[in-house]
Amino acid sequence: MSDKRLSALIVGASRGLGLALAEEYLRRGWHVVATVRGQTKTALHDLQARHAGSLEIETVDIVAQDQVAALRDRLAGRTFDLLFVNAGVANDPDETIGNVSTDEFIRVMVTNALSPMRVIEALDGLVSPSGTIGVMSSGLGSVADNEHGGWEVYRGSKAALNTFMRSYAARQRGSRRSLVIIAPGWVRTDMGGPHATLGIEESIPRVVDTISAQSGTPGLKYLDYMGRTVRW
Ligand code: NAP
Repeated sequence: MSDKRLSALIVGASRGLGLALAEEYLRRGWHVVATVRGQTKTALHDLQARHAGSLEIETVDIVAQDQVAALRDRLAGRTFDLLFVNAGVANDPDETIGNVSTDEFIRVMVTNALSPMRVIEALDGLVSPSGTIGVMSSGLGSVADNEHGGWEVYRGSKAALNTFMRSYAARQRGSRRSLVIIAPGWVRTDMGGPHATLGIEESIPRVVDTISAQSGTPGLKYLDYMGRTVRW
């Protein structure tokens, strides 16, 4: 018998917001394929122990093009209602574009902007014609809202991601899929740190509500965790 549950492919789910996304979709009855890097046991594996049959764990480092292609090959023939790329990195927020090293600039830009788009370009054929493709951006990716600076390189990477999503969306005119760029709020994770304003449980269920609310609405939206439009 075929599995009629909605299904999500969540990329970058070993910890933090990606792990919480996987858990939230499982709680809502979805079948989830979620990814980690490497072979080390993660909190996602603990989650799998509690959701046998509903959570599959795959492996991909989004920066490694061969691994992205191998993931696509392993998942060939599958169809997902949602592809969501959560993986991302931060750098020292005080580093400016004037003093960041070229290597660090490349690390952040390649991980946060180029690689999520490569994942989407490689895996979008697995998403159902009326499904959803999303990326985890940040409110810091808004060019218009950048009144105070800081986080220069990270901001630039998320602004680039947003722009690449707009270019991707422009190529998808006529598609029934919804495309979402999410700003999850400032959340207490390894990246967000202990002083962030939101707990994971305040952000992620609303992020999932926001993504779900877009289902069936074609086109690209840049939305925060409350479903509010973020200025480009
Ligand atoms: P986190 O706790 O540092 O987790 C980052 C996740 O991304 C981990 O699962 C990590 O896997 C994965 N990852 C990083 N590089 C990867 C790569 N090359 N390939 C595959 N996976 C990779 O951060 P978080 O706070 O949960 O952030 C998740 C996303 O939300 C990021 O895109 C971040 O920019 C965005 N965001 C976070 C906040 C916040 O306040 N926390 C705010 C706005 C946006 P490993 O465990 O293998 O490192």
